[in-house]
Formats: sequence, structure tokens, C-alpha cells
Amino acid sequence: MKFSTRAIHAGQDADPTTGATIVPIYQTSTYTQTGIGEHRGYDYSRTVNPTRTALEQQLASLDDATYCSAFASGMAATSAVLNLLSSGDHVVVGDDLYGGTYRLFSKVLTRYGLTFSYVDMTDLDAVRAAVRPETKLFWLETPTNPLLKLADIAAISSLRRPGQIVAVDNTFATPYLQSPIALGADFAVYSTTKYIGGHSDAIGGAVVTNDAALAEVVKFHQNAVGGVPGPLDAWLVMRGAKTLALRMREHSRNAQEVAEYLAGRDDVSAVYYPGLTSHPQHDLAKRQMRLFGGMVSMTLRGPEARVYAFAKETKLFSLAESLGGVESLLCHPARMTHGSIPKEERDRRGVTEGLLRLSVGIEDPDDLIDDLRHALDATLALALY
Ligand SMILES: *Cc1c(COP(=O)(O)O)cnc(C)c1O
Repeated sequence: MKFSTRAIHAGQDADPTTGATIVPIYQTSTYTQTGIGEHRGYDYSRTVNPTRTALEQQLASLDDATYCSAFASGMAATSAVLNLLSSGDHVVVGDDLYGGTYRLFSKVLTRYGLTFSYVDMTDLDAVRAAVRPETKLFWLETPTNPLLKLADIAAISSLRRPGQIVAVDNTFATPYLQSPIALGADFAVYSTTKYIGGHSDAIGGAVVTNDAALAEVVKFHQNAVGGVPGPLDAWLVMRGAKTLALRMREHSRNAQEVAEYLAGRDDVSAVYYPGLTSHPQHDLAKRQMRLFGGMVSMTLRGPEARVYAFAKETKLFSLAESLGGVESLLCHPARMTHGSIPKEERDRRGVTEGLLRLSVGIEDPDDLIDDLRHALDATLALALY
């Protein structure tokens, strides 16, 4: 079956007890057993819950994979993958990544004896050079947040030696636009809070794999560590995921129009979008992604004051953390999502004070461009200084 069909049907059988067409929200922590050791596979909801199981089957199918563990957040999903490692292990990770992931790695997991090398994942030689005998994991984010750089999933996966694993944070692309496992990675990791849920109303995460042994270790930690989503959140993410294909087509179409509009303005000094032919990795994007996604970043010409003024002028793009919902959002990474990264480190990576990240929603693209035009024009005087 094709993607859209799987999104609507995988794991979504009618409820066996009532025939309810839509999977119910099994809001229960425990299950009555008919005798000691006699139950229907459900004993306690941290371990297993029917609503969560339905979501896990749906999400596994979106990556054409067999196994999925759902989590209470993208960070819980990320830490479940890192739970596979032991003290002394080393991780090769991209130098442009989600601020919360950087915080987990640098402030939490280093205390547990893991070491991390942050490299420019666009440079295969740099990735190769960072590998050590104790390297256990390659952690890729592609496209990256917020600079929309790409990592070549197939090429990096081919560097992996036995015992090493490759995990791709596929949150920005979603399984509709990019299939990390088909490209050779072991894991696709998601913040389902973003496009998969798609409506900015739930926090969630997921780890997807085709490897039975790895899946079992993740499942073990899902239960042992306990970062599971509640049934209502699992249900909201599942409902959102049913429309992922049509939303991603609209997000990608709108983002392309927005990026082209911004690229044509003299008062915008840089536009970052994999769908622009000017993007340094546009060819890789065409090979690796089905469409180019809904995220666009840009650097405004002028002082930081212009960025602040701009953020007050937009009406449809609301200033908020997060991304991937149907509504358009605007974010200032240096002060918001990436505030947990020290300034020198941010500057080194290009996450400067002039950078703005747009999560282009699925409103009418003409209205979105009008909103941006208004905010750019209203702050144009500041660009001249
Ligand atoms: C938001 C995000 C995360 C973290 O997910 P939460 O659901 O907020 O815990 C991880 N990676 C990327 C790329 C994200 O955008």
C-alpha cells in the first residue's frame, strides 16, 4: 500500500470490543486480569496501551518499517536512542542541530561518560575524520535546525562499521519527504510534536527501526525509563498523522513560494531553503527528499533591532517556539529555540542575531507573502543603517 493509505489504515482497525471505527482513547493505567498471569497482553499502561500501540503501528508503517516506540516527547525519543550507549562510547553528531538535543548531549549525557564530536555533516571527510575506535553512534539531523543544511544519509550510513549505529532526526522532513531507513540508517527519530502531529496541540516523539534487536532494546528502555505518551496525546498524534501527506505537499508548495519571494528581496541578505537552486546542497536535496519541506530560514539586512521590529509586525506568522503545525510560525533561534547554546558557539555555527526561522503553514500562500511583505516593508528603514 502507498503512503497515504498506510497513514489512514495502518494500526487503525475497528475496536474489537465495540466496533468503534476510530481507535478509542484507552484512558486507563491498568487492566483487570482474569486470573493471576491471565490477561490479554495488556497489564500496565507504561508498558503497553492500545491507543499507543495503534499509533506505533501507524508510525512504523509510514517509514515502511516494522517497529516503532512512541514517547512523551521528541527529547524522550532521542534519549531512548542514546540509552543504547554505555559510558566511554563516542558519538559523531552534526554541528547544526536542535538546541534541546545539544543540551541533552552536552549537559546531561557527558556526565554519564559519553563523548560527542560536533562536525559539519555536509563534509564527509570531516565525518570520517571524527570517527574513533569507540564511536558507537552517528547522530544526523537533516535538514538541520535552523540552517537547513543537509547530511547525505546514504553516504554517512555507508561509513558505519559493525557495532555502530546511524540515527537520523527526521523531524523536519517527516517520513513523507525522506526515508532514512531505506537510505541505510538504523533509526528514524521524530519529534511528533511537529509535522506528524501537525496541529500544535500535543507533545510527542517516536523511534522507528527495521532492526528487531535494536527495536527490542528501545522497547526495553521505553518501559524501564518510562517516557511514554499518555493515551490522549497518542491519539492526537495519530489523528494528525492521517493527513501528513496532504499537509506536507501544501507546506512544501507554500515554503517554496515564500523562499522565492524572500530571495528576490534586497533587504534579505540570505535565504536558506533546500528547494532553492541557490542552496549549496540542492542536488542532494533532490536525490534524498521527495519535496523540500515547510521550513525556511532567512537573515535580515540591518541591525538586530530590525529583527525585533519585524517579529512585532507579522500578523499571520505568530512568534512562537515549535514548528510543523498548520499555522505559520516565526522564531528567532538565537533567543528562542537555540538560546541554550552559548553565543560564541552559536555565532560559529551561523545562528546569528539576524537569523529568523519560518515554519510556513498551510494558509493561502498569497496571504503569507503579503504578511511577510508588510513586515519587511514596515522595517525597511532600519535595514539602511
Ligand atoms: C522539537 C524538536 C525536537 C524535540 O522534540 P520535543 O517534542 O520538543 O521534545 C528534536 N528535534 C528536532 C529537529 C525538533 O525540531
